Amino acid sequence: MYQKVKGTIDYYGVEAKKLQIVSEKVKNTIENFGYEEVVLPIIENTEVFTRSSGETSDIVRKEMYTFNDRGKRSLTLRPEGTAGVVRFFLESKEYANLDLKKYYYFGPMFRYERPQKGRYRQFIQFGVEVFGKSSYLLDVDVIYSAYAIFKALGIENIRLKINTIGDFSSRKDYAIALKEYFKPKLDLLCPDCNERYVSNPLRILDCKVDSESVVLKQAPKIKDYLNEEAKTYFKNVLSALDLLNVPYEVDDTLVRGLDYYTDVVFEFEAMLGDNYLTICGGGKYSDLVKNMGGPDIPGIGYSFGIERLIELMNELNLFKDLEQKVDLVIISLDENTKKQSLKIANDLRKVGYKVELDYASIKMKQQFRLSEKLNAKFVLIYGEEEAKNKEVQIKNQKTGTQETIKIKDLEKYLGENL
Ligand code: ATP
Ligand code: MG
Repeated sequence: MYQKVKGTIDYYGVEAKKLQIVSEKVKNTIENFGYEEVVLPIIENTEVFTRSSGETSDIVRKEMYTFNDRGKRSLTLRPEGTAGVVRFFLESKEYANLDLKKYYYFGPMFRYERPQKGRYRQFIQFGVEVFGKSSYLLDVDVIYSAYAIFKALGIENIRLKINTIGDFSSRKDYAIALKEYFKPKLDLLCPDCNERYVSNPLRILDCKVDSESVVLKQAPKIKDYLNEEAKTYFKNVLSALDLLNVPYEVDDTLVRGLDYYTDVVFEFEAMLGDNYLTICGGGKYSDLVKNMGGPDIPGIGYSFGIERLIELMNELNLFKDLEQKVDLVIISLDENTKKQSLKIANDLRKVGYKVELDYASIKMKQQFRLSEKLNAKFVLIYGEEEAKNKEVQIKNQKTGTQETIKIKDLEKYLGENL
C-alpha cells in the first residue's frame, strides 16, 4: 500500500471545505486593508533562502528540502514566504514606482521537522509583506490586520505578544552580553544551543528545549541594550495599539526564529488543548531588502499557520453546516430520458442548483438510493410519459409531497420551494 509522505495532510470533503472557507475569509479581510495577492513559485533558487533567513537559522541549517535538479541547480521547496516575496519585489522592480506595496500570499510551505500536532512537513501559510517607508502607524496597521483576521474568523481567545529587538547595532552589543552570560553555563544548555552560542547566541532564547530553564529566564534582556530611538518607536507602537483597543502583552524574551527581523516582533497565540500555541508570527525587517541586493527599503510582515488555525477553529466549534446538500437528483427511467436528463441537470446547474444523477442506471430503486445517500432535497422523476408531456414529477423528500409540473416552470418552482 502506498502511504502519504510523513508529515503531510490529505484534505478531502469537509476538511477541504474548511480550507476553502478560511482562505476566502482571510483573503476578503486582508483585501479590505489594501493588500494584493501574489502567487509565487514553490521552488526557488536555494540562495534566496540562505541569503535571507540567515545561514544560522534553524530553517536553513536543518529544515529545508533542498535538491539539485537535472541541470545541477540547487533548488529549495520554499520553507517560508518572505524570501520569495522579496525576490519577486526586487526582480519585478516593483519598488520603482510606488512608495508602499502591500502583498499577501496563501500556499504550501515545506520544512523538515519532527511531525506532531500542529507541526507538519508540508503546511499552509497565509502571510503578508509590506514594503515602504517605515512608520509605527504602518506597523500597527499590519499587526491590526492580523488581529482583524482572527476576529473575522470568530476567534476571540487570542493573545498578542510583542517585543522590540532593536536595530543591528543594539543587537550586536546584546549578543556580546549574552555570550558573556552563557559562557560559564554552556553545559546547562542543549547541544543545539551550544551550537547557537557560537553562530548566533540570540537564538538560544528561542530554543524549544531549554525554554523553561532558569538559565534562559535570567539571561540579560534586549531592552537594556536598546537605543533611545528604538525605545521611542516601540512606545509609539504600543500607544497606537492601545488606541485601537488591541490587547497585548510585552514579552521581553520574545525573539523570532529568523535572522532578518529588527525592531518590532510579535506573535499571536491561542489555547490549543492545554497549551498556548503560536498561530501567527511576524515582525519588521529593516535591512532584508537591502541585504538581498535591493534598495534600502524596510519591510514588515507576518504569517499564519493555517493548519493550526483550522485546529483551533475546530476546537472552538467555529465551522458549521459544512455538509454540502444536493438540491436535486434526477431519476430517469429509460435510455432516452436518461440522455435528456443530462440537459435538464445542466440547465438547472447553470442557474445555481446543485444537481446529480445516476449516469448508468435506469432502475428506480437504485436511483432513489442515490438520492438518499446524497441527502437530496428534491427528487425529479422523468420517464417516457413525462417526456411526452414536457413535464416532470417532483418529490419533496422532506414532506413526501409529489407534484407534476411543466419543465419550463421548474426553475420558478424551485425558486419558490427551495
Ligand atoms: P515554531 O516556533 O512553532 O516552530 P516558527 O517560528 O518556526 O514556529 P514561523 O516561521 O514564524 O514559525 O511561521 C509562522 C507560523 O507558521 C507559525 O506561527 C506556525 O503557526 C506556522 N508553522 C511554522 N512551522 C510549521 C509547521 N512545521 N507545521 C505547521 N505550521 C507551522
Ligand atoms: Mg519552527
